[in-house]
Amino acid sequence: MLKILVVDDEQIDRRVVEKTLARLGHDVILADSGEAAWKIIQEEPIRFVLTDWNMPLMTGIDLIKKIRSTTLPSYVYTILVTSNSKDEDIVKGLYAGADDYITKPFNPTELEARVAVGERMLALEDGLMQANNQLEKLAMVDSLTGLLNRRAIYKFARGELERARRVSEPISVIFLDIDKFKSVNDEFGHLTGDEALRLVAQVIKKRSRAYDGLGRWAGDEFLVVLPGASATDAQKAATRIVAGIAATKLAIPDGGILSLSASAGVTTQAKMTGAIAILDDIIQAADEALYRAKDAGGNQVAATRL
Ligand code: GH3
Ligand code: MG
Repeated sequence: MLKILVVDDEQIDRRVVEKTLARLGHDVILADSGEAAWKIIQEEPIRFVLTDWNMPLMTGIDLIKKIRSTTLPSYVYTILVTSNSKDEDIVKGLYAGADDYITKPFNPTELEARVAVGERMLALEDGLMQANNQLEKLAMVDSLTGLLNRRAIYKFARGELERARRVSEPISVIFLDIDKFKSVNDEFGHLTGDEALRLVAQVIKKRSRAYDGLGRWAGDEFLVVLPGASATDAQKAATRIVAGIAATKLAIPDGGILSLSASAGVTTQAKMTGAIAILDDIIQAADEALYRAKDAGGNQVAATRL
């Protein structure tokens, strides 16, 4: 079932079209002028318009041109209903952006068939949009851990840094790296290494807030972006994650259990009053802190002031 907007200044003509469409089970909305139709299109998610050509002031062609020149939430399929059946008129209508036309007086079965074509086009568009959304999602996600990938977490961080500046709030980042991860791979194989990465990602997820950005930066490195978090908040969060990873047990192929640990570096951009650090400097500072945590023996958190 479609929601179809029928535009005609003649009540009788509106009735005829409405009756045919209603019989097919479509939800029909009526407008008695181009202006009224345009108002409805801006207010409601209309995807199908059947419009008369000759109307005072805004004609069907004007209405279609308006639809085509405006960015609407989705494609609007348009059929021009016209008594102008000369070839050049039809050509003009199609060039103006109409997807199809039907001449008055029309045969109801022809209208039915043309509406069915429009329905197919809109179903195709839905399929494309879904596939597009799916691809967009996939392009942002790290397939192994389900966290954001490097590009997506960087984009998130950039957006949140900008927002933090606007609303004058702090923002923190945690750079986290698994300790001696190479030896997990070397001793127990890549699949066990992969499982360790997934487990660490789960701990990060469980121990973060819903509005934190969680990403896999590279290899065994993770970046957590904490909008609104002060230095104290962020250090607490990092400590929580590091403790969570230390408490995690990884089952290894020979039946044994392996403990993991990770180190974290924290940096905070305090409530911004003066100069704003650029994102790369913030990440760099967190990376430096991480290396201090590693040097101090790992399984701990260190912080760098900007
Ligand atoms: P450190 O304590 O200093 O962090 O030492 P490390 O061994 O953890 O660090 P290093 O950076 O030398 O090793 C990271 C390893 O991560 C090396 C690489 O083989 C492994 N790695 C990177 N990506 C993947 C992956 O997707 N799966 C698996 N299983 N291993 C990966
Ligand atoms: Mg490591």
